[in-house]
Amino acid sequence: MNQPQEKKTLHNTINYALIGLFFGFIFPIAATLFDISLQNLPLTFPNVLKVQSMNPLHWIIDTAPVFLGLFSALAGYLKDQVVNVNRELEEIIAKRTESIERKNQLLKQEIDHRKEAELELVKAKEQAEAGANAKTRFLSTMSHEIRTPLNAIIGMTGLLNDGSLSSEQREFVKIIDKSGENLLGIINNILEYAKIDSGVAVLEEVEFSITGLLDDVIEIISTNNLKEQVELSYKVDETIPSVLIGDSARIRQVLVHLVRNAIKFTEEGLITILVEPGQMDESSLELDIKVKDTGIGIPKENQEGLFKYFSQVDSSNTRKYGGTGLGLAICKKLVEMLGGEISLESEVGVGSTFHFNIVVKKTMNSTGENDIIAKDRIVESTKRLSPSEGRTDININMPVKKLKILLAEDNDINQKVIGKMLARLGQSCDVAGNGIEALEMCQLIPYDLIFMDMKMPEMDGVEATVELLSLEPKLKKTPVIVAMTANAMDEDRKKCLDAGMNDFLAKPVKLEELEAMMQKWFKAES
Ligand code: ADP
Repeated sequence: MNQPQEKKTLHNTINYALIGLFFGFIFPIAATLFDISLQNLPLTFPNVLKVQSMNPLHWIIDTAPVFLGLFSALAGYLKDQVVNVNRELEEIIAKRTESIERKNQLLKQEIDHRKEAELELVKAKEQAEAGANAKTRFLSTMSHEIRTPLNAIIGMTGLLNDGSLSSEQREFVKIIDKSGENLLGIINNILEYAKIDSGVAVLEEVEFSITGLLDDVIEIISTNNLKEQVELSYKVDETIPSVLIGDSARIRQVLVHLVRNAIKFTEEGLITILVEPGQMDESSLELDIKVKDTGIGIPKENQEGLFKYFSQVDSSNTRKYGGTGLGLAICKKLVEMLGGEISLESEVGVGSTFHFNIVVKKTMNSTGENDIIAKDRIVESTKRLSPSEGRTDININMPVKKLKILLAEDNDINQKVIGKMLARLGQSCDVAGNGIEALEMCQLIPYDLIFMDMKMPEMDGVEATVELLSLEPKLKKTPVIVAMTANAMDEDRKKCLDAGMNDFLAKPVKLEELEAMMQKWFKAES
């Protein structure tokens, strides 16, 4: 209880007691005087005593008010105490209410603040996504715009090489062809780098076998590029599960580049790809991959910088071997995306070993049965290739029967290039300048094969494919549809295949690729 309240309670209690005492005196005095006057006695002390002693009620009347006064004082005191406790409680409640309200206010402010922050985050995310989308659009447009004229340059150069040229002219053509190829390599690398750097590239998770992946690498590289005195082989540790989950396309991309470099810089000896298991737990496994060569080697002082952009050991090598110095920087980015690191050991004149590790997931049946199978076949896991081997599935000179071909392509130069290439391969084609024309022509003529450009006016190739396949019951024949497009990014390939196209050729298209594509789809019928 606070001080003024205590004083007030004491004050009240004294008042109650005084009132009680006052009545305690007034009542007996009044009763005695009343009694004396009733009996008509003079007011003397003996008479007072007489009246008092005569009537026992006087004792009660004399003492009761005193008690009543005291009781009322006590009751008053208690009542005051209750009032005080109530007041104190009310004060406490008021204070608590005030503090809760204050806290509520703070909480509300905090919630408002968080909501604002959330909104800002959403806005920033939307801006980042819009930025990433703009970058993707820019990259794909740039790729498209550069590849379209390159298709004509590389395609026409391929056509020029027909034996009627003098050796000097043949040399000129070779230079144009090589420069076109280099330019394409540079564009591919720059686009790839920009894609990874802008965060547009996303990792995929697919099931793959490491030996299958290594076979792909060798097929892509084409061992025709191997020099006579160089042998390429791979060895996969037998304890590695036969099926793994990871971004096989990215792993392949890194390996293809490292093996290409090894081939480029090795005049004789061995190029070996070694795959060994690193750390593993129940669900994931680290793969330790080495690409070893017995090539020219890299001086110590140049080794560190090689994983930076546009870095090459020396410019005379660049002239001799070509390249942009972007490849290893891209490999480093890709390996980091795959959860690992890349490093290099090399000695001049002895050779180089590029070593990288990546994390892949195991499948449900990665342990047990598959491991036993893997141990039983200690794919087979070692493979050797000499220059004459490789690419056995593609026989460039094998004849393909005369096909009914439609070329859906809006660019007149590319119409001419592809038309001439097909003529060189003993084929001819009809031409549609856009998707609508292609649809109309397909309903009239039973085409075996359509080469479908993606970006065309009126109706693009993807839309035309979807429309065409919806008309399938009405068509006399369902054609094989191969995308032939300067939109060469992975998403473009996926878009085409998702729309129902059977295959994909990125521009610039080479004569051999065109023929290999026809062999692939029409070999059995030839
Ligand atoms: P590029 O795309 O020009 O091949 P890279 O980034 O892949 O560029 O390689 C950069 C440089 O590293 C090459 O120009 C070469 O000097 C050196 N290099 C890469 N791999 C090897 C190798 N296996 N042996 C010798 N030098 C190599």
